[in-house]
Amino acid sequence: MKLGIISDIHGNIEALETVVEFLRGKGVTDFACCGDIVGYGPDPNRCIEAVREMNCICVAGNHDYATVGETSIDGFNRAAKQAVLWTRAQLTEPNRRFLENLPITAEDAGLFIVHSSPSAPEDWEYVLTVPDADDEMDHYPGGVCVVGHSHQPFAVERLPGKMPRQFRDDVFDIRPDGKYFINAGSVGQPRDGDPRACCLLFDDGNQVMTRYRVPYDILAVETRIRAAGLPEYLASRLELGR
Ligand code: ZN
Repeated sequence: MKLGIISDIHGNIEALETVVEFLRGKGVTDFACCGDIVGYGPDPNRCIEAVREMNCICVAGNHDYATVGETSIDGFNRAAKQAVLWTRAQLTEPNRRFLENLPITAEDAGLFIVHSSPSAPEDWEYVLTVPDADDEMDHYPGGVCVVGHSHQPFAVERLPGKMPRQFRDDVFDIRPDGKYFINAGSVGQPRDGDPRACCLLFDDGNQVMTRYRVPYDILAVETRIRAAGLPEYLASRLELGR
C-alpha cells in the first residue's frame, strides 16, 4: 500500500488538490493528515470536504481546534488570530463538527500520527532539533512518528546503539529496528524557504519514505486571500515559503 502523508493544509485548496493529484499519480490510495486543515487560507470548507472525501486518517492541529474553540488562541500572533476568527465564521455546521471530532493522535500503516509532539500533543510544542526528536522517540509505540506543526520538513533516525541522525535526503529506508521522527512539512504554507507544497509518500511494501515538493498555483491563492480580506502577510508569505 502506498500512503500519502500530508500536513498543514491551512485552507489552501489549490495546494491540496495539486498534491493529492500528484500523489495519486504515484499510486497512492490512502492518506494520512497530521492536522491544521484550516487557518490562514481562504478555503477552509473546501479543504475539510476534500479531506473528508479522501480515504484519509486525520488528527487535529492547533488551528483546527482553535477554530472550534477547543484550544485557546492566546498564543497565536495577530494574523493567525484574525484568520481563526474569520475561519470560524465561514465553517458550515457539518465541517465544524468534523473539526471538533478530530482525534489528537492516530495510528495508520504502522505509523503514529500527531500534529505537534507525541509526549504532549495538546501543548503544541515544536520539535525542531535532533536531541528533541530523540526525546520524543520514547513516547510512541512502533518505529515511526509523523508530525506537522512547524511547516518545516525534518527527519531523524535512531538505530540501536547509535547516535540519532538527521536525514538530509528526500528518500530513506525505514528499518525495522529503527526509530523515526518525521515532520511532513506543509502542503499549504511551507516555511523552509521553498514555496512548493510539501508531502510524503510511504510505501509500506518496501518500507521506503519519500519526500516530494510540488509546484502549484500560488498566485491564485494569494488573490483569494486578498479577496477574503485576510491579512496581506498571509498572501505574500506564500511565494517566499516563509
Ligand atoms: Zn500549521
